[in-house]
Amino acid sequence: MADIVFRNVTKRYGNTLAVDDASFTVNDNEFFCFFGPPLSGKSTILRLVLGLEAPDQGEILIGGKPVNSVSPAERNVAMVFQNLALFPHMSARDNVRFPLVERKVAEAEIEKRLADVATKLHIGHILHKPPAQLSGGERQRVAIARALVRDPAAYLMDDPISALDARLREETRVELKRIQRELGKTLIYVTHDQEEAMSVADRMAILENGCIRQIGAPAEIYDRPASAYVARMLGSPMMNILPSVRGAGAIEAAEGTIRIADDKAPAEAIEIGLRPEDIKVRPWTDNETKDGRPARVFGVEPLGGYTVVTIEAGQARLRALLRGQPDIRPGAMVAISCEPGRVHYFGQDGGAL
Ligand code: ADP
Repeated sequence: MADIVFRNVTKRYGNTLAVDDASFTVNDNEFFCFFGPPLSGKSTILRLVLGLEAPDQGEILIGGKPVNSVSPAERNVAMVFQNLALFPHMSARDNVRFPLVERKVAEAEIEKRLADVATKLHIGHILHKPPAQLSGGERQRVAIARALVRDPAAYLMDDPISALDARLREETRVELKRIQRELGKTLIYVTHDQEEAMSVADRMAILENGCIRQIGAPAEIYDRPASAYVARMLGSPMMNILPSVRGAGAIEAAEGTIRIADDKAPAEAIEIGLRPEDIKVRPWTDNETKDGRPARVFGVEPLGGYTVVTIEAGQARLRALLRGQPDIRPGAMVAISCEPGRVHYFGQDGGAL
């Protein structure tokens, strides 16, 4: 068992609260992501798990055992991917064997683990090649194999693929997900890329200034963000969040350009959140006043399968994500609406209602 538990863990650097009273459980075999902006405490959490830092307060448990006073070497968790670069003068095979040779593992055991990891990563047929003869994706898999060959109870990865180009990143994260499933190991993964976090994580924690703001499955957090902060963190384009007022029988925002007849809308709401894909855009017709006043199309970004439309609605700018390539031009007057059930409401403190 390699579940990892933090109980009210706090870590300070001087006056900086790097991790603020964090409590979470990463389950055995789980792909768990920490996601947050730079300096939100992600790397500090990894260093606390590894034992490179000690908490000022709170308790850390790995596999049910308190590890606050256990050295990094005895924790059986491995940081991988710090260096994705392969040794150019060694074959793929020698690159993968390297961490075990360095640790003086017996030859028979090395070959057994090499065979095992080569099967899981589908690299058996390229082991004889030097890195220069491998494609980008193959090199990536060899580098992952080298990281995984040690066989610890849990792996930690700190923004491992941020340096890759976009296409390779997409391929690699699919690969990583498959590998984690097949290895059946706990994986804690840090990223500042929301799409990456959502695509790989079984569950994720969203960080802000050292505080964990929400923990859950990506889809769950996306659909039910606990606060306006979390809501903005997931989704691209991000959620439109606008000050709202209660009008006659409806919630209004953006100077009446948005009017949502929602009799269940919470009275304390001061802001509404609309996901770009939930916004409906229609050409404005004069007899169409039930959804509010007209708004104006500011910009249109056709992206092939979908189109991002930026709309000036009163003082606000909204972004709507429409399927395909609708016939909408900048300058056009439009009516915007949203199903009442898709609207998010936020209160005074930014919390979801
Ligand atoms: P992230 O990984 O999300 O970018 P970090 O965990 O690196 O965030 O940093 C969290 C906070 O702790 C930041 O304010 C950072 O400046 C501070 N911090 C991290 N490491 C140190 C350190 N060794 N000394 C002083 N401050 C640090």
